[in-house]
Amino acid sequence: MTKEFTTAQDKEARIRNIKRRLGKKLLILTHHYQRKEIVDLGDYRGDSFGLSQKAARDRKAQHIVFCGVHFMAESAAILAQPHQSVQIPDLEAGCWMANMAHMESVEKAWDEITSLSGEGSLVPIVYMNSDAALKAFCGRHGGAVCTSSNAPSAFQWGFAQREKVFFFPDQHLGRNTANRLSISPDLTVVWDPEKPLGDNTPEAVKRAKLILWNGFCLVHTRFQEEDILNMRKRFPGAKIVVHPECTQEVVALADAVGSTSFIVKFVREAPPGSTVIVGTEINLINRLALENPDKKIFELHYSLCPNMFKIDLDALLSTLEEIGRRNLVTVPDGIKADARLAMDRMLSLTP
Ligand code: SF4
Repeated sequence: MTKEFTTAQDKEARIRNIKRRLGKKLLILTHHYQRKEIVDLGDYRGDSFGLSQKAARDRKAQHIVFCGVHFMAESAAILAQPHQSVQIPDLEAGCWMANMAHMESVEKAWDEITSLSGEGSLVPIVYMNSDAALKAFCGRHGGAVCTSSNAPSAFQWGFAQREKVFFFPDQHLGRNTANRLSISPDLTVVWDPEKPLGDNTPEAVKRAKLILWNGFCLVHTRFQEEDILNMRKRFPGAKIVVHPECTQEVVALADAVGSTSFIVKFVREAPPGSTVIVGTEINLINRLALENPDKKIFELHYSLCPNMFKIDLDALLSTLEEIGRRNLVTVPDGIKADARLAMDRMLSLTP
């Protein structure tokens, strides 16, 4: 089995053989933050929005192998057809941010907010980086899923449905989206699930248009304002692009902000000879530097997602050797239908 193959080349050759044998029956999806060797072996790479679109549209593949973190594979399992299996090369590849919001505390917050502002006043929008159960919660309560590509459209959609939007778990994506839509900070509250009423007064909750869960991404909040100021000094004339999971202070100092797909396009379209400083996960930045040799691409600060990094050649090879059996990701039927409803609402939004 896997142990016989000692070099990376051996493992890659074995993976390519399995891919050839399975042909269109196999679809390997790779997130932008995966290691280069994994991305090179995938059939399609993208951000969580692009990958979920791909998973929803592909009818030919019997086996979807998702090289990313668990909530992404779970989202593919929600969208997959009954004849399709979804596997993740390492079941331990979770997401810190997704673990910051749990069903029990979200339901408690929902009850507390609706008891103050009235039934039917609130629409839930959940970031893709969340458990299937929370996506199902949104489906049941008339809400939607969003990604960093389509958060502004999702918020506009939400405000067209009801008076208030309850967004979880990423406060920074929520705040940056609110800034983009010119929603006043006075009309936004942050909900701390550990504190009574989320650490807010009843008046503030009643007045709020937007309620943000206090979750965050450790990879993107590592970037500080000083990093931007230092890089501006070192590289005058460089453009700085960051992800919307960064703090609003970092976003305010950057030249551009957008999802991983936006960042890829931004770098690709930068003029030859230019310098671009990127504030996101390091594996994507390293690959952008390789793929854009006519430009200088630097990281704002080194920041690696250890969960994304758990997927390696050994894990991918072992999964492919036991295709349809090992590390299967499934979603119970009771959750799937409601989660699908919230995902479909997202897929119908234009990014
Ligand atoms: S980069 Fe952040 S949000 Fe993305 S998977 Fe890693 S911990 Fe989760």
